Amino acid sequence: MKDSSKLTANRARAEKYLERFVRSPVPHFIRGERVPSQAGGTFETLDPATNAKQCVVASGQAGDVDRAASAAAQAFKLWRDVPGQKRRAILHAIADAIEARADEIALIESSDTGQPMRYMAKAALRGAENFRFYADRAPGAADGLSLPDENHINYTMRQPIGPVGVITPWNTPFMLSTWKIAPALAAGCTIVHKPAEWSPLSAVVLTEIMDEVIRAHGGPAGVVNLVHGLGEGAGKALTEHPAIKAVAFVGETTTGSHIMRQGAATLKRVHFELGGKNPVIVFDDADLERALDAVLFMIYSLNGERCTSSSRALVQKSIHEKFAKRVAQRVAAIRVGDPLDPATEIGPLIHPRHAEKVLSFPALARDAGATVAVGGNRACGGAGNYVEPTLFTNARTDMRIAQEEIFGPVLTMIPFEDEAEAVKIANDVRYGLTGYIWTRDVGRAHRVARDLEAGMIWVNSENVRHLPTPFGGVKQSGIGRDGGDFSFDFYMETKNIAVAYDNHSIPRVGI
Ligand code: NAD
Repeated sequence: MKDSSKLTANRARAEKYLERFVRSPVPHFIRGERVPSQAGGTFETLDPATNAKQCVVASGQAGDVDRAASAAAQAFKLWRDVPGQKRRAILHAIADAIEARADEIALIESSDTGQPMRYMAKAALRGAENFRFYADRAPGAADGLSLPDENHINYTMRQPIGPVGVITPWNTPFMLSTWKIAPALAAGCTIVHKPAEWSPLSAVVLTEIMDEVIRAHGGPAGVVNLVHGLGEGAGKALTEHPAIKAVAFVGETTTGSHIMRQGAATLKRVHFELGGKNPVIVFDDADLERALDAVLFMIYSLNGERCTSSSRALVQKSIHEKFAKRVAQRVAAIRVGDPLDPATEIGPLIHPRHAEKVLSFPALARDAGATVAVGGNRACGGAGNYVEPTLFTNARTDMRIAQEEIFGPVLTMIPFEDEAEAVKIANDVRYGLTGYIWTRDVGRAHRVARDLEAGMIWVNSENVRHLPTPFGGVKQSGIGRDGGDFSFDFYMETKNIAVAYDNHSIPRVGI
């Protein structure tokens, strides 16, 4: 099929899948039922490609969150005791159902967020993979240690913390939601999910799938609940609710500090995946062709709306000019267009407010003395949040374009002299999510990896995600780690039990 006929076919299927969301207000999903807001409030979402109204969505408030948290608390009493092997079967069945509806999920996600279909098809399948991975870990989630001494045997067990709140952002929401929810369910927690107000639709499909599978396996209603709404409404209420024992949050750094304050009264356990301003460091001995591909991919794929994007390219002075020229040629050739078109590499940004923010940076770049080498304007004429892929060169680390998370298809290039200066510039931001290093010098790769202030480093590689490994940031990029058993550290409590061998002759140790 030609790209143009694939676009027509994608549009027709997207329209079919969106029909039910367009027809009537999108409800919450609480205790297995679709319900409107108690107070009747709604908000609208926009089609990022046109900015026409796409859907009307129930706007949750404290009362709706309370209903959902009570449902999750009640279901927890049953779900926590479901044997690990059964939870394993349920999570695999959820993965099966996601795979069966992958086309629907991808088209809904692409229409809701503006993310190109070429990436969204894979995002749905990655979501299924997250469930499969944690399905297989569910039977061992409670395993602890055995620590004998002369008089006792101590053993530890892990138990699910309780109902948890999951608050997700608008960038790749389906994949990110599965990343949070799959380990929580495997651990035995129940969920109240508050998706982002700019992209709430794929969460509806995910919740429906999970609830249907859980109940088909004899599980209770209320294991998974979905409350839509704004951050200051449903989001805030969720972080303050006493029945919610922990909040897993993905979003902006500033929102993270609000949530910390909001959760303080109930001493909420928090897990934060926040913003980034990630450096990719290209040394002059690197495989420059591979480095070039990686630099471009990590900032211009997914519309640059990616927490792990390499938004600062630090390039050694000896190769800087030549490398910048090659980057510029490639950036100018990137195809911006309809997200449903399989040929599109960059779609519209999520929302007019976000596009405005991204488009404010070229003027800041020029005013600060940097060069706007490519782009910097609206793309595709007319309506929609289309932005040209943009490249800033001749930048310095003290400029706002080198310090702030732009979260769009915008790369800032900064030259450096030597290894020490590269590390200094790389660490000179408040964030610390990821870092990328391109060099053929093994010793240097290890040194720089050690010295970069970031939670995750990729050396001569990019975008590799091995699910058992820890994922998360340092500094203002996050608190805690996901992945493998690291997720269980958050969703579970560890209990120690000391048993005496002989209860008549136990010397008491300690006070
Ligand atoms: P955001 O912080 O504006 O919103 C995220 C979620 O928080 C939304 O659901 C929103 O409604 C909710 N929220 C807002 N205010 C709240 C409050 N006071 N209390 C409770 N909830 C509230 O973030 P965004 O703009 O949707 O997402 C983009 C950001 O997410 C970027 O900074 C990006 O780097 C970050 N992100 C980080 C990672 C990571 O792994 N570190 C992954 C994806 C996205």
